Amino acid sequence: MAWNSIIGQHRVKTILQRAITEHKIPHGYCFWGMEGVGKDALALEFAKVVNCNSPGETETGIEACDICKSCKQADKIEHPNIKFVFSLPAGKSGDSRDDSPIFRMSDDQIKLIQEQLQLKSENPYHNITIPNASQIRISSIRDVKKSVTMSAQQEGRRVVIISEADEMTTEAANAFLKTLEEPHDDITLILTTARHDSLPQTIVSRCQQIYCEALTDDDITTALTERMNIYTEEARLISSFAQGSYARACEFLDEDMRRMRHEAVDLLRVALKKNSYRMDILSHLEKLTGEKDRMKVEMMLMLMLMWMRDCHAFAVAQDSAPIINIDQRETIKRFANAFVGADYGAAITAVEEAIMHIRRNVQIQLTMLTLLITCRKIFLGI
Ligand SMILES: [Zn+2]
Repeated sequence: MAWNSIIGQHRVKTILQRAITEHKIPHGYCFWGMEGVGKDALALEFAKVVNCNSPGETETGIEACDICKSCKQADKIEHPNIKFVFSLPAGKSGDSRDDSPIFRMSDDQIKLIQEQLQLKSENPYHNITIPNASQIRISSIRDVKKSVTMSAQQEGRRVVIISEADEMTTEAANAFLKTLEEPHDDITLILTTARHDSLPQTIVSRCQQIYCEALTDDDITTALTERMNIYTEEARLISSFAQGSYARACEFLDEDMRRMRHEAVDLLRVALKKNSYRMDILSHLEKLTGEKDRMKVEMMLMLMLMWMRDCHAFAVAQDSAPIINIDQRETIKRFANAFVGADYGAAITAVEEAIMHIRRNVQIQLTMLTLLITCRKIFLGI
C-alpha cells in the first residue's frame, strides 16, 4: 500500500500528508462519504505512514517506506499501534462488562474474523462481512479505552480506526465520547462512516471532518482494468453502475455482467417479436422470478435501461453516438434501425418505473409483464 494505491481522493491525501509533515495531527478525524470510496483505505494508509520507521519526503508530502518492520505490520493490520475496530457478532451468552469482545466467541467466529481481516489487509476496499455483526458494542470500545491508556509498545503514533462508526451502540458511543474528551498527544482516533447523520453530534463536533467524495467513472474504470485485470469495455460498463463506489464495482465483478446484459436484451427481443411472444415471455419471466432475487432483477433492468439509452443515442446521432455498451455497437445499430421513430423517452421512463417498483417490493412477474407490454406498445404500436 502507498498513497497512490488509493483511488482518487487527491484532496484528502494532500490534507492528511500536510497534517503529518507539519506536525498538526488532530486527536480525532471523521472520514465521511458514501460506501466504497476509500475511507478505510485512507485511514489505514495514514496510520501506516505515521508509524513508518523511515518515511520519505516526496514532492507532494510524505510516503511510508513500505519495507521496514512497522510498514510490514501495518500492511497486515497487525501493528501494535494500529487498532482497527469494526462490528462483531455478540458472543455466546451476550456481552458481559469485563469481557474482551472476542472472549465469548466460538472458534469458527474467530476464524471468520481473521479471514475477513486478512481480506481487508489485502484489499482495503473490502467490505468486512460477518454474519450477525451489525453493531460495535461497548466491549470493543472498552478495549480501545484500555489500549489508549496503556503506554505504547512501539515507537510511533497510535491510531485507532473505528470503521463504520455509526454502528456503535448508544452505550458504545457514550463510552467513545469519553475517550475523545480525554485526548492523548500521541493518539489519533479516526472514525469512518457512510452515515454521517447517524453519529451523535457530540462525537462529530470533536473530530476534524474529512469528506471523501464519490469516485469518478474514469477512476473506477482505470482501477478495475489495472487491479482486476478485466477489459476496458466491461470496466466501463461496471463503473457506470457503481455510482462512484469502488467497493460496489467490485461486487458487480462477482455477477456475470455480460451474461446478464445478454439476458436483458434477449428478454426485450422476445417481447418485441411480432407473433407468438406470449409463451416465450412467460417462460423467460418464470426463469427470472424463480430466482426471487430482487437485486438481480433490478440489475438486469438497469442493464436494459442502459441499452435503451444507447439505442436512443444511436437513433439521434448515428455512428457518432457516445454509447456505453461499445462492444455492442453493431447490435445497438440494428435495434435502433429496426425501430426508427420509436419513443425512447417513454421506453426509458417505463424501465425506470419498473426499477422503482422492484425496489418497492411490487411483485416481480407483474412488474416485468407490465413493462414488456408497455414496450410492445411503444415499439410496435400494438
Ligand atoms: Zn516503513
